[in-house]
Amino acid sequence: MTEAERLARMSDAVRTLLECLGEDVSREGLVKTPQRMAKALLACTAGYHETVESVVKDALFECTSEEMVVVRDIDCFSMCEHHVLPWFGKVHIAYLPAGRVLGLSKLARLTDMYAKRLQIQERFTQQIAEAVQAATGALGVAVRADCTHMCMTMRGVEKPGAITTTSHFTGAFRGGDASAALRVEFLLRTGGGVVATPAGAAALLMPPAAVGGGVAGVAPPASLPVAACTAGSDPDSGRAGDSCSSCHAADGSVAPVAAASGCR
Ligand SMILES: [Zn+2]
Repeated sequence: MTEAERLARMSDAVRTLLECLGEDVSREGLVKTPQRMAKALLACTAGYHETVESVVKDALFECTSEEMVVVRDIDCFSMCEHHVLPWFGKVHIAYLPAGRVLGLSKLARLTDMYAKRLQIQERFTQQIAEAVQAATGALGVAVRADCTHMCMTMRGVEKPGAITTTSHFTGAFRGGDASAALRVEFLLRTGGGVVATPAGAAALLMPPAAVGGGVAGVAPPASLPVAACTAGSDPDSGRAGDSCSSCHAADGSVAPVAAASGCR
């Protein structure tokens, strides 16, 4: 199909959509809307015509550092494949180089390539991680995305404040103790926030297999409130109450969450 044929068929389809909405497609404001919407849809899905190779090209450079490279707060704008409504947010990418590094802008371009398709956030996150892994041969890659979905905001459950956080880890970021430390560093360096509960901390420290699908280490974004302690401290003595196990260890020491929530 040529570009002109594609635009013509899409414009016809948009005209049908507008008529089904009860609109008069001949009125001034809508006359050129079918073509405009067709072009907008093609622009928002331009990622179908790109590949990891065409994006990365030769932007790989020798480097002996094995320290974590982090690019955070990459804007992403995509459309959900279930409703063709926008979703958008921030992507954070980290990797551990193994002899070569990727031009920093390529991390943003790979994000765009996968965003400009009909997507679900879970697959989008995984695709970016696997692309960075394949392009760099890194020791490991970590990707997190924090996004808002308009199909949950302007229709359906209508929850504008909900943020969906997804993550995907490869290589050295997956697994037990050493990997858990890397995931914590990744979360801290990308504004992943504190772990609000002991249960959350346990999830962070478990290997991905134990919590399913490589999503270990998913912590609430920093903007979410830290869970408040509601148990046990004695305001007069300032000492921990016996029942305050969520904030206080058996030896009476106070966990960081307690300080954040005001529990003593
Ligand atoms: Zn949707």
